[in-house]
Amino acid sequence: MNLQAPDLTAEPSFRFRPSWKAAKLSLALTTSVALAALLAAVQSRAATADVAQSPSGQSLPTHSLFRKIALVETKAAAPVEAPKPVITDFATPDGKFKFSVDTTLAPDLFKWVDKELMPVVCDWYPRIVAMLPSDGFTAADKVQLEFRNDMGGIPAYTGGTKVSMNLPWFRSQLQGEAKGCVIHELVHVVQHYGHAAAANTRPTQTPGWVCEGIADYIRWFIYEPKSKGAEITKGNFSSVHFNDSYRTTANFLNWVVEAHDKDLILKLNTAARQGSYSDKVWQDATGKSTEQLATDWKAANAKRLGL
Ligand SMILES: [Zn+2]
Repeated sequence: MNLQAPDLTAEPSFRFRPSWKAAKLSLALTTSVALAALLAAVQSRAATADVAQSPSGQSLPTHSLFRKIALVETKAAAPVEAPKPVITDFATPDGKFKFSVDTTLAPDLFKWVDKELMPVVCDWYPRIVAMLPSDGFTAADKVQLEFRNDMGGIPAYTGGTKVSMNLPWFRSQLQGEAKGCVIHELVHVVQHYGHAAAANTRPTQTPGWVCEGIADYIRWFIYEPKSKGAEITKGNFSSVHFNDSYRTTANFLNWVVEAHDKDLILKLNTAARQGSYSDKVWQDATGKSTEQLATDWKAANAKRLGL
């Protein structure tokens, strides 16, 4: 069956009706399958015609079926208006650090942001800046935070001075990990290891496990030590490795800080930011390599756990 769709390019309302009637008559459709196919073709062209027509203000075709389809398509094709941006400014009491929070997509979280999150951010961002100083570096004094709906399974990430927060994940963690997660991201803002390229003509690469380990060390062992979220237990002891990143590395860093050098984090951060990170930083600070320290760390945990 040759269902020739009508040409709607020039004058759609005029040309469409005769073609529709002619098709119905001449093709003598007798089965519902054939009719469905014709209607699908008509609907397809109706949508095209509707989009082409609208800007010129021409009236819609008068055929009732077409009109119905065309109206539906008109509704569906209407541009979705973007929500009006809702961005709120916050600052530390001394006015030194400023934060803007985009809650456009999260009006339900505004109260939590205002009463719970931002007091913590305003309190802890200056502390993190003070923990991680280095010569020739000034931490950002403006930070942006934004709730987003397109982050998949990633709770949060930081790019430059902007922290992106996964809205569904935050909604599920308001009384759980939400604030600690933001603390971790604020550490990334302050770390700014991209500075190494400007500070050093031949910068070394700082491993990701060091970068993430420092962020989680500040979160779990300084911001919220009581939560004990980065413990080595009998359950995870055999599988953890010092450079697993995040919580495990945070635990390793904490052990080295307590056992060897209280300034280790400062030294690692300075080297990373200046593009001079290497295993020598650990050697100079503790007299041992990371592998030797890792062996000692495992032994200390085995003893503590009675393993
Ligand atoms: Zn991170």
